[in-house]
Amino acid sequence: MPEAMVAARESNVANGTAQQVDVAVVGAGFAGLYLLHRLRKAGLTAVGLEEAGDVGGTWYWNRYPGARCDIQTIDYSYTFDPELETAWTWSEKYATQPEILRYLGFVADRYDLRRDIRFKTKVTEARWDEATARWQLTTSNGAPVSARHYIMATGCLSAPKPPEIDGVKDFKGEVYFTGRWPHDGVNLAGKRVAVIGTGSSAIQSIPLIAEQAAHLTVFQRTPNFALPAHNGPAPSDRMSLLQGDRTAYREQARQSMAGVPYPQQTVVSWQLSDAERRERFERAWAAGDLVHILTQLWADQAVDVDGNKIVQDLIREKIRAAVSDPETAAALMPDDHPFGAKRPCLETNYYATFNRPNVTLVNLRQEPIKAITAGGITTARRNIDVDVIVFATGFDAMTGAIRAVHPITGRGGKSLTDVWAQGPQSYLGLTVEGFPNFFMITGPGSPSVLSNMAVSIEQHVDWVVDRLAALRDAGFTAIEPTETAQAGWNRHMADCSMVTLHRLANTWYTGANVPGKVQGLMPYTGGVGPYRSICDEVVSRGMLGFKLTGPDGAAQCNDGEVVKLQPDVRLVLNLLASLNLPPIESMGAIGARAFVEEFNKGRPAGRPIGDIVDGTLPGPDGPLPYRVYKPSTSGPHPVVVYFHGGGWVLGDEQSDEPFCRDMVRRTGMMFVSVGYRHAPEHRFPAAAEDGYAAARWIAEHATELGGKPGPVLVAGWSAGGNIAAVTCQLARDRGGPDIAGQLLVCPVTDCTFDRPSYNDNATGYFLTRSLMYWFWDLYCSPADRTDPRVSPLRGKVAGLPPAYVVTCEFDPLRDEGIAYAEAMAAAGVPVEQLRARGHFHSSFAMVDVIITGAPGRVQMAQALRRFAGLPPEVSRDDEHSHVSPGHRIAAAAS
Ligand SMILES: Cc1cc2nc3c(=O)[nH]c(=O)nc-3n(C[C@H](O)[C@H](O)[C@H](O)COP(=O)(O)OP(=O)(O)OC[C@H]3O[C@@H](n4cnc5c(N)ncnc54)[C@H](O)[C@@H]3O)c2cc1C
Repeated sequence: MPEAMVAARESNVANGTAQQVDVAVVGAGFAGLYLLHRLRKAGLTAVGLEEAGDVGGTWYWNRYPGARCDIQTIDYSYTFDPELETAWTWSEKYATQPEILRYLGFVADRYDLRRDIRFKTKVTEARWDEATARWQLTTSNGAPVSARHYIMATGCLSAPKPPEIDGVKDFKGEVYFTGRWPHDGVNLAGKRVAVIGTGSSAIQSIPLIAEQAAHLTVFQRTPNFALPAHNGPAPSDRMSLLQGDRTAYREQARQSMAGVPYPQQTVVSWQLSDAERRERFERAWAAGDLVHILTQLWADQAVDVDGNKIVQDLIREKIRAAVSDPETAAALMPDDHPFGAKRPCLETNYYATFNRPNVTLVNLRQEPIKAITAGGITTARRNIDVDVIVFATGFDAMTGAIRAVHPITGRGGKSLTDVWAQGPQSYLGLTVEGFPNFFMITGPGSPSVLSNMAVSIEQHVDWVVDRLAALRDAGFTAIEPTETAQAGWNRHMADCSMVTLHRLANTWYTGANVPGKVQGLMPYTGGVGPYRSICDEVVSRGMLGFKLTGPDGAAQCNDGEVVKLQPDVRLVLNLLASLNLPPIESMGAIGARAFVEEFNKGRPAGRPIGDIVDGTLPGPDGPLPYRVYKPSTSGPHPVVVYFHGGGWVLGDEQSDEPFCRDMVRRTGMMFVSVGYRHAPEHRFPAAAEDGYAAARWIAEHATELGGKPGPVLVAGWSAGGNIAAVTCQLARDRGGPDIAGQLLVCPVTDCTFDRPSYNDNATGYFLTRSLMYWFWDLYCSPADRTDPRVSPLRGKVAGLPPAYVVTCEFDPLRDEGIAYAEAMAAAGVPVEQLRARGHFHSSFAMVDVIITGAPGRVQMAQALRRFAGLPPEVSRDDEHSHVSPGHRIAAAAS
């Protein structure tokens, strides 16, 4: 826009009195522009305050050579107006900075947004005025602003990080920052140039700088994974998907994990052969698309270090092939973080640039920079003379621009800097307790930088503006999250962060790039689609976690936490709910068995172990099948007699196979899973008596089965936990077998249904109260139910083997499991409990699906090993061990 027009508008508000608006929007990038558009449509007055001289945000400031987006431009666009979508055509798969800036200018013009923006105006302070329930903003230029609502659309990557090297001021040559590149360009021809940093901006600019400069020296501290962009026209397959059904395409993006419409992968790495994995990798490599390679290889690439390492190795192979000098190639290969844990980059000729004679790589791990001098850069090994230094050192990400407005003073004079002294706290990444009417777009605690930000920005803006309009319509003037809601969100953030591998990298996602910054994973790792559904749930549950206040003491507070489930449990339960399955108890026993069998076919089968051997053993009333799961290490191993779940009605000796395999790997022990008889064909006490007889027979035939003679252990899940508990009581009372310990996972222990967990979790968590009623009715008549062989809590619990009892928060059986553990402990039995927060009845059985169940299984395995007199973990030195680093990380995390 012509500078004259900007100046004219500034003077309109420069008369000293505060500019009065409903909403102050700080920033005029993707977020600020859309905010202004939506606010106007909602009938709210707004002013945009922007430090830059025009719209564009990121794309206004980052004008370095090679600057482009790295999400395909057809996806990295506004989608709120179908006419806008067809009015603009991108020229490339990854548009350049000038083109994206032109696009944002086009949007500003199309919706006449500049008239509400004060450019060259920085917000320096913000204060909530309790008396008027308004924010007072101080600006660097022109009148202050008084606004009912204060929205920071200040960007996640908009506060460049200052260089941390001594002597920058002494340098006599030219200094540039990629994040603040001069608008009229820089002539580097014939100059000796240094680029410090090898993040995204450096990787984009280095090949172009090398083409111009006499010599380019690249100073690298940490190598990043970079993949070829294969830029060109937008790929025809993506274009036809978009053009085929634009609405569906955009909707799929909104519901996806990263904001780009790709399906969820379900196949895990170890289900694929080497050739299949390579084929998938080569396809992803050729696609030149970050989201493709980050999400489409195999399901465990982002959640398991083993699954991730396969990708890393394949990428390192590519780097080795692209760079001629082996030492340079080795230095360029990332080896300190999982792929995707840091933001990977897209490159065009980046690795090949290091084959040029005028390019040198300085590995700062071997020769750190000592100082910048008048003539160049001094490392621990040498002086390098340069004419130009380009700092590509990144940003104080996510919180930098927010904290740069200082102070932001909320209710009771609280400063945001103080509230965030230990790291950012928020509710949904959008709001902060103690700061009424304060909103952040893509703030810390939202998917933001882990997503296609165009999609996240639109979702945030829509949510915020809809809330402001609803607040106004309901006659309230202020909105603020509650302490409970915020604490719950922080807990949910922490739960999510345990699922992915981001926590294993030093990255700007965690603040590790800024000296002195408190470290912690700032973006929400639970995914764009799930995040959207949570924001919607807050609204559908009556603004859950928000306090609304208005004139004359009007107030509404619906306190609570929006997500109490573990993130993957929530996903699984939502998926199950979306299938609208009939209740299992309505299928009849035969139908339910067929359903479970079918259901189990779709799950990951479990990782490779040693031998699996089937057999039969003599039960009290005929042969019983069993399946032996052996570790891959040489035996003999201690024997665990295992009883599967299924309410005494469903399942068999193979139905808990993923759990058995996982526990075999983690314990290094042999599991013998027993196929006991089922109701209604065989009612009480058939299952209990079968279980006991099987344990006795297995103990007596341990050597023959390939196990270690001596005491056995027993374990079981659900009804299997019931049989395991009963077996221990019967073994005590009937003279053996000798049992060294019992693992009871969500066991049935009693026949009353009035404990709180039966009511709290009656529906919605897969195992329902009515399903339990059905199981009980099929298995056991009311007259028999107090028999300890089905209600072990009613029996004598003294003198039992040591126990590890696992209960899940969202399980009808929770309280009876706890009651059994407490009763045993009171009777002097050594008992440990795992009360699994946020988990449901099937959490631990759904191996490789409920990732957050892994730490619990680590603890179970350690308990079994303790009972068997073994050290807690399978030895790392055991070369045959299949316990993966991923499991170790899970163990450490637990
Ligand atoms: C080089 C680069 C490439 C990127 N590529 C992609 C990509 O491909 N895909 C993707 O999803 N994301 C990408 N991003 C992230 C990008 O930041 C977002 O996609 C998006 O542009 C953010 O828009 P925004 O409006 O939230 O913030 P910004 O675009 O950062 O705009 C914030 C604005 O707020 C202004 N501001 C800040 N503080 C104040 C203040 N106190 N007073 C007044 N004004 C203030 C700033 O001047 C700035 O103009 C990239 C980022 C960079 C740096």
